[in-house]
Amino acid sequence: MIEILSGDLCVDCDICVKVCPTNVFDAVAGGTPVIARQQDCQTCFMCEAYCPTGALFVATSTEPAPEGAWQRDEAQVGARGMLGKYRDDLGWNRGQTPRAAFATPLLAQKHISAAASAARSKNNEIGQVLP
Ligand code: SF4
Ligand code: SF4
Repeated sequence: MIEILSGDLCVDCDICVKVCPTNVFDAVAGGTPVIARQQDCQTCFMCEAYCPTGALFVATSTEPAPEGAWQRDEAQVGARGMLGKYRDDLGWNRGQTPRAAFATPLLAQKHISAAASAARSKNNEIGQVLP
């Protein structure tokens, strides 16, 4: 269940609004989206996976956390390293290797090829040539 949207970490990109399959968030013109329909959350973790800044926390429970629970307190959630942890676990942050790349040799090869291709393209841009 979605519990935290950190206004401090959010960059107002509205990606969470777009990826949520059950329309839990409302966009706010010129501002930070809000969790408008928590009860509709399906605990799918998609918003946390896609949030580029680790501003979201989805608890594993399928019910809202009770009053006073650490899951409802941004400071405690942050202190436990739980803001954006699902995205981090997936390896989707910039510079990470997606964990799926380790799932099968085929995916690993694909990732290595893509990384090599990106490096080659970057080096070509700056006038270097890779073997
Ligand atoms: S995806 Fe993250 S950074 Fe973007 S609007 Fe939602 S909470 Fe904010
Ligand atoms: S966990 Fe899934 S259903 Fe819940 S708010 Fe995030 S994207 Fe929407």
